[in-house]
Amino acid sequence: MEENSVSKELKEKLFSKNKHAAKRISIEEKSASDSFAKDYMEFLNASKTEREACANAEKILKDNGFVPFQIGMTLKAGDKVYRNNRGKAIVAAVIGSASITDGVHICAAHIDSPRLDLKQNPLYEDHEMALFKTHYYGGIKKYQWGAMPLSLHGVVVKSDGSTVVVNIGEDEGDPVFCVTDLLPHLAEEQMKRPAGSLLRGEELNILVGSLPFNNDEESESVKLGILNILNEKYGMTEDDFISAELEAVPAYHTCDVGFDRSMIGSYGHDDRVCAYPALRAIVDCKAPVHTAVVVLTDKEETGSDGNTGLCSSYLKYFIDDLADCFGAKGRHVLSASQCLSADVNAAFDPTFPDVMEQKNCAYINRGVCVTKFTGARGKSGTSDASAEFVGVVRRLLDSKNVVWQTGELGKVDAGGGGTVAAYIANLDVDTIDVGVPVLCMHAPFEVVSKLDVYMTYRAFSVFVE
Ligand code: MN
Ligand code: MN
Repeated sequence: MEENSVSKELKEKLFSKNKHAAKRISIEEKSASDSFAKDYMEFLNASKTEREACANAEKILKDNGFVPFQIGMTLKAGDKVYRNNRGKAIVAAVIGSASITDGVHICAAHIDSPRLDLKQNPLYEDHEMALFKTHYYGGIKKYQWGAMPLSLHGVVVKSDGSTVVVNIGEDEGDPVFCVTDLLPHLAEEQMKRPAGSLLRGEELNILVGSLPFNNDEESESVKLGILNILNEKYGMTEDDFISAELEAVPAYHTCDVGFDRSMIGSYGHDDRVCAYPALRAIVDCKAPVHTAVVVLTDKEETGSDGNTGLCSSYLKYFIDDLADCFGAKGRHVLSASQCLSADVNAAFDPTFPDVMEQKNCAYINRGVCVTKFTGARGKSGTSDASAEFVGVVRRLLDSKNVVWQTGELGKVDAGGGGTVAAYIANLDVDTIDVGVPVLCMHAPFEVVSKLDVYMTYRAFSVFVE
């Protein structure tokens, strides 16, 4: 009996505590998390592409007193500025009370998601059907994109230089589009293909019409009919596709998942499920000590290259310009800075347990996931946060009662993946990955837990405040 109680006491002192968030949070927090989820879902429905997410983020920033950053402007504690990078990425800052050379606290997340991009000559007619050719963007299981409703988003830059915005398939009454798939009755040969080519890249063709323009004998009359509609609606011609960026994404809206409504199902959680909490954290940040910076970036899903991705210098330039306002050097600011690089992690899936090392993976409802390292094949491509910085983050989250967990992206050598953390760490910033665990990541319908989304917001809040 006595020995038992000694063990019990010692266990309580030494073992990890129960991690299920629902068992650890108050009723007030549960209701705060439900209401946060509502706001997030609204943002998500209106932000299906990086451009839309960027525009909506800018609107939220402006509505909350953020003003466009100007080179050399006079800044004082509490001032709120932002810079929009080409309509696809955005950086915002709230000036802290400490000296800028004490470093800034950065939250980074990406607002691009896997999707189907239209090619530059997309429209063609085949057997009196009109279709779009696509090139997929990011890592997708191509077979998941057949036979479901798609909407079309983006911009067309016309020959006169004017830009027209396209957003069709989202509103009630809008038509939608779809990649056709083969009926099972005739799929005997298709079903023998390896899963990676069940639907091949050049088979991801989107059906966009079937009626001829007129009752005439002209060839390609269905294509003409579609171009005529596009011309009436957007004033565009076929050549204007060349300077367009049009993205096909799932047309459905977000929804609650589960009888208990504990989860959110949606396209594009990765990584707006971190971007929105980061945005809200900086909007709600009133009087930070260190200057708070949030960067919502583009191009993560294709490797972060390009001038709107985090391999470019735009974040560094922004910090440089900020430092200049205080007569400081950007590199001195960066070297003293800290970053929560926010991206989703894979959540344990009981149907596919074999890819996870269950002592070290992330689970839904255990809170925001802190990931010390990512990468593949022996941590290749990771920035691997130092024990010291993990210690800083751990103490911060614990002291503010943020429910959090650690997680590794799958078993060693099961695969792997990277985030933007390495690119920020390469600027000499202490950086660690944090984020929301996701089920069915990169699928057209991803699932997250409302509690985890809220705890991610709380983690950003306590980090920037
Ligand atoms: Mn991501
Ligand atoms: Mn991703």
